[in-house]
Amino acid sequence: MKILTVIGARPQFIKASVISRALSSMHSNVQEVLVHTGQHYDANMSDVFFTELGIPCPTHNLGIGGGTHGENTGRMLEKLEALMLLERPDRVLVYGDTDSTLAGSLAASKLHIPVAHVEAGLRSFNRKMPEEINRVLTDHLSSLLFAPTDRACSNLIKEGVAKEAIHRTGDVMYDVALLFKEHAKKPDWFDQAELRKDAFALCTIHRAENTDSPQNLKEILKGLDSENVKFVLPLHPRTRLKLQKIGAPLPSNVHVTEPVGYLEMMWLEANSKFIVTDSGGVQKEAYFHRKFCITLREETEWMELVEHQVNTLVGADSKRISDAIDGDTSFQSDAELYGDGLSAVRISKILTGDFL
Ligand code: UDP
Repeated sequence: MKILTVIGARPQFIKASVISRALSSMHSNVQEVLVHTGQHYDANMSDVFFTELGIPCPTHNLGIGGGTHGENTGRMLEKLEALMLLERPDRVLVYGDTDSTLAGSLAASKLHIPVAHVEAGLRSFNRKMPEEINRVLTDHLSSLLFAPTDRACSNLIKEGVAKEAIHRTGDVMYDVALLFKEHAKKPDWFDQAELRKDAFALCTIHRAENTDSPQNLKEILKGLDSENVKFVLPLHPRTRLKLQKIGAPLPSNVHVTEPVGYLEMMWLEANSKFIVTDSGGVQKEAYFHRKFCITLREETEWMELVEHQVNTLVGADSKRISDAIDGDTSFQSDAELYGDGLSAVRISKILTGDFL
């Protein structure tokens, strides 16, 4: 069996690492053709994950990045269709909610190649998010839908997706966190920056709704400005660009770094006091590391975290951000919301079985 996997962005490399590993170690009759669209191309947004997480070198790299959503999706669609005609895979595997996900699922479904979607059924119910459009469309083009949670399954059922196509597998990001926990790495710069374990908060900002709005970016920076908390902010390239454009100074309690690799990120998450983010993945990782999460959005795809009171939604509102930072950031929950760490094994078995 030949599986063609389409990845292109940081969170997809991380998710694909455990499934590629399961496919190659458990199924000798399976050939995985890895296609990197090039959506994320900086070494610290791409190469580092391949090296650290032992992901095989992509068979094809399309080198498509840096354009608008329409430009990227269109160019990827064209190249992926040609590749799929050449490779003739039995299934196409896509992850999450990026333009690479949508281009992969569109190209495959038009060629009548079954699409398998990892992280199916997530919804923010906010169609202004490009990610929401990508995930809704991809789910409805897929024959195999791997949903991480019960809520994700019921979202799909409500939208009329056939029950037989939906598999509740748990969350592969939990598998990755467990697998690499022992390898978490303290960043070289940490001590020199006069930071101390458990006495700093970790922050990431990259969602378009925040980075594309100078008003939101300024509000977030104002909210982070605090005498009581030091922040570590590994800066996404898009956010860096936008900050430079608006010329907004960063508060002196914020230590800015380049994006870090997964192992350093794990260390920072595990040793932080709490986490402030607009990332989907980082909200869950906060949970894996038992850290309270302050989410810089008005809604989340991971509502169970809010219901368990380990995540609070504060939007891009400086007052709500600083109230949350100065409020109770202790973590209290012992629920296991994201599976048992065997999601990738489960997915690879279904993917390679005769389920379609
Ligand atoms: N991440 C990382 N280095 C960083 C920031 C994030 O390795 O400097 C990891 C993080 O641990 C998580 C993933 O990137 O596993 C989340 O990706 P991102 O926030 O870019 O996307 P989202 O999850 O919002 O789709």
